[in-house]
Amino acid sequence: MKRRQALGATGLGLGSILSMGMAPALAQLQRASDRQPVHAADAPRVIVVGAGIAGLAAAQRLRAAGQRVLVLEARERSGGRIFTSQAWRGPAMDLGASWIHGAGPANPLTQLARRIGARTFSTDMENAQAYDGLGGELRAAEQRRLADLRGRIGELLAERELEARDVSLQALVYEALDYTERPAPQQRLIDFLLNSEFEHEYGAATRQLSARWFDAGSAYEGGELIFPDGYKALIDHLSTGLDIRLQHEVREIDYQGAAGVTVRTQHGSFSAPQLIVTLPLGVLKAGKVRFSPALPSRKQIAIEHLGMGVLNKCCLLFERAFWDTQLDWLNHLPPTGRAGQWTEWVSLARPSGAPVLMGFNAADHGRRIEAMSDAALAQDAMAVLRRMFGSQIPAPQDVLVSRWASDPHALGAYSCHVLGSHPAQRDDLAQSVNGRLFFAGEATDRQHYQTVHGAYQSGLRAAQELLRAGGGQQARAPVSHSA
Ligand SMILES: Cc1cc2nc3c(=O)[nH]c(=O)nc-3n(C[C@H](O)[C@H](O)[C@H](O)COP(=O)(O)OP(=O)(O)OC[C@H]3O[C@@H](n4cnc5c(N)ncnc54)[C@H](O)[C@@H]3O)c2cc1C
Repeated sequence: MKRRQALGATGLGLGSILSMGMAPALAQLQRASDRQPVHAADAPRVIVVGAGIAGLAAAQRLRAAGQRVLVLEARERSGGRIFTSQAWRGPAMDLGASWIHGAGPANPLTQLARRIGARTFSTDMENAQAYDGLGGELRAAEQRRLADLRGRIGELLAERELEARDVSLQALVYEALDYTERPAPQQRLIDFLLNSEFEHEYGAATRQLSARWFDAGSAYEGGELIFPDGYKALIDHLSTGLDIRLQHEVREIDYQGAAGVTVRTQHGSFSAPQLIVTLPLGVLKAGKVRFSPALPSRKQIAIEHLGMGVLNKCCLLFERAFWDTQLDWLNHLPPTGRAGQWTEWVSLARPSGAPVLMGFNAADHGRRIEAMSDAALAQDAMAVLRRMFGSQIPAPQDVLVSRWASDPHALGAYSCHVLGSHPAQRDDLAQSVNGRLFFAGEATDRQHYQTVHGAYQSGLRAAQELLRAGGGQQARAPVSHSA
């Protein structure tokens, strides 16, 4: 049975909770509960670490099953890698996830968005124009060469599934296309394809991505939906009625005591019989949270070997649009020596009605730009846009940027399959420990990792596992909060 059928069959019954539409009340509830100690009488049966979409989905599932749930979140907001910012003069901007990928009827997020009446807008990757970093639109002859190379790489990847030997994606493509024998202009086209088609999608450099496993998951059918008012609509809805303690950074998870699990935060300790960990892979890799006893070795190996990629956004608000506002994607072929820089742009003019461009940088350059100031980054972006559209274009009125690799509560954008990793390691990461610790988060979903729907499904899966394991029945000692 496939994952989505299994979820349907478990009768998750979230419909009633999710259609309550109590987002404003929720914000108040969150604030009110922020500093309240937990008393034994209303002590949690389950603690959920992290209020990203995986943690919220898990908490709602448990709440629907009658469990008392406490969510501990390090940031001053819920949503994690879903982050709708309004900290500028332009429309709401998603600096983390933007799209429901594969937004057909089978995707649980499509269903959720419909149920709660969130406004969505369809964008199309084929609705694109390619530009030459040497100036203007990409010439027809170059476009044909690109299409030809893209086709050859596609064939190559279809064939490589038969091979047992793993190499990096870059090594595979370079060798098969005789990269080193080709003139620089052709190398530039190959490097552009490697960056725009793979590094932007999977987050890691193609010299690190496993040719065998980089796309080991699966996708739902359907197009791409963006939220003009922000992905936050889903987060607000899923937070409804939950006890979420913001600015509670978990530093230690002790699961050896008789009472169950004790977590330590800067505001004291919390205990419960069972706990769901939804920490991002980047945070687990950095060892920022100490587990006592140490996690089983298979889980540690998974944490070490799976990769954490980087994707960053730079949003620019202009007084007027200088590009074709009917386009969704503007692809930019950087000059030689600037491979991987600003290769993809999205026009948000159609979904938002405002003259906004969102520039992307992934993998190596995505990491590099995090050291730059907002102003320096906007300047760098404008130098590229001037080569694409001419020197007369206006300066931006405002800028919003993300820095996911240096964000201490994410330490990267999403997980990926680098050399040395294996899809089964996602199952190891998801595996529960001692019937007490359960694991969710995008990196634990073998089929839909890297995505919001994968994270959401993983939260429901972990909650279901916990309930099956006898949610809360292991509690013996009273559970409480101590400062
Ligand atoms: C730039 C970017 C673009 C993306 N675009 C898309 C897209 O268009 N479509 C798509 O489907 N996916 C996209 N993704 C991926 C998607 O955002 C993630 O897969 C998903 O949001 C992960 O959810 P999660 O609940 O697993 O993790 P998170 O959202 O990271 O939640 C984990 C939570 O744990 C908290 N936390 C961390 N450390 C601690 C601690 N010590 N104590 C307590 N709490 C802690 C974090 O603050 C966070 O709130 C994108 C991601 C990025 C960064």
